[in-house]
Amino acid sequence: MGLPAAGARFVARSYRVAIVVVTALALAALQLRAGSDLEASGAGVGDASVAERLDRRPPRLDGAGQDLQLVDVGLCAPVVEVVEPLDGKAGRCDKLDCVNVIVLMADARVTGIPVEDCGEPLIDLSTCDVTRIDGRKTDPAGDWRQLRTGVVDRLGHAASALPRGLQLLHIEGYRPARLQARYFNAYRTQLAASRPDLDHAELHRLASRYVSPPDIAPHSAGAAIDLTLCEDDGSEVDMGTRVNASPEESGGGCYTDAASISAEARVNRGVLIAALSEAGLINYPTEWWHWSYGDRYWALQSGSPVAKYGTVDRSLMNEFGQRDLA
Ligand SMILES: [Zn+2]
Repeated sequence: MGLPAAGARFVARSYRVAIVVVTALALAALQLRAGSDLEASGAGVGDASVAERLDRRPPRLDGAGQDLQLVDVGLCAPVVEVVEPLDGKAGRCDKLDCVNVIVLMADARVTGIPVEDCGEPLIDLSTCDVTRIDGRKTDPAGDWRQLRTGVVDRLGHAASALPRGLQLLHIEGYRPARLQARYFNAYRTQLAASRPDLDHAELHRLASRYVSPPDIAPHSAGAAIDLTLCEDDGSEVDMGTRVNASPEESGGGCYTDAASISAEARVNRGVLIAALSEAGLINYPTEWWHWSYGDRYWALQSGSPVAKYGTVDRSLMNEFGQRDLA
């Protein structure tokens, strides 16, 4: 008993591993090419060459598990996240390669992008056969299952590109602005308690690594989804950290490019990245589980002059997810 099933499971897993490896290799090739294109155009990474930025790179940190503080340095034109250990020696976290650049959600290049809302309605994911739906963020009104239809269409493409045996697992979509404000203020208060040296502006900026400021939040536009991968039986795949792990809790492992996670988790993240990127969604690089389409951050990363989706108030919408004009 069990041997035929175990054999079939082994074959299925081997098949999936092969697809994963091929996908990861293809993704690596794409990233290398994208990096070359970026360098050639000079877009988004300042004027310095890769070699010049390498030369300017601060020394790597030794000793894992140090209590880290995030600071900015002007390595490149955009904001770059590096770490400073409590002993005061400047250094760079292993989670970042020298050419990786992270623009935070509170950056003026994001907040300054205008919104021309196309009026697309929200749709309940439970009415679509696109993702498996997790219940940890459930709310009485069903807000967490709502997304703009354009986002759901792209999730459908991503789901169909996954290796056999894997599914997208939806955690949270639309989030009313008042709930977003509560999340943001709670995290900023937590940061302020541990970093009394920071002023209001710096607290606001650092809080945006993990929770978007409420006025520009992609979740409140129905443009963002928090999700992970699961197997057909619903069991979550190892992605290195739990969904919604903070930078402090995970030691930086929540950063999409974190080097501190296991090889298996790295491959699994690669599968998620390949499927969602190919479908046109954009990742927020401090949270591997956060992907969006049509919001300001998507506009910045995709080169669109405007965002397609702005903040929506679901209480003003009718049963079809459209603004009720009556
Ligand atoms: Zn999110």
